[in-house]
Amino acid sequence: MYRLILAILLFTALYFLLRQIFRGFNKPIENGRKKSPVPVQDEEQDQMVEDPVCHIFVPKRIAVIETIGAREYCFCSQECAVRFRSEHPV
Ligand SMILES: [Zn+2]
Repeated sequence: MYRLILAILLFTALYFLLRQIFRGFNKPIENGRKKSPVPVQDEEQDQMVEDPVCHIFVPKRIAVIETIGAREYCFCSQECAVRFRSEHPV
């Protein structure tokens, strides 16, 4: 009788252990999907962003991105970034 209980306990423990292992496997994948820099960035980089200097829309992937102050600005070219910087000294 004791053995049976022990076996059941062991199986339960094993079951929970396996579940935790599977969860451990699943979590990084889920997180990876959410955090995964590649697809998110791809999506983000397909966005059209407005150049605050010449008001041209450029795809984020080719935009010149500058962090000025606390904000991030996207420019069509380095020249626009430089111009914006000189017009908006931090
Ligand atoms: Zn521009």
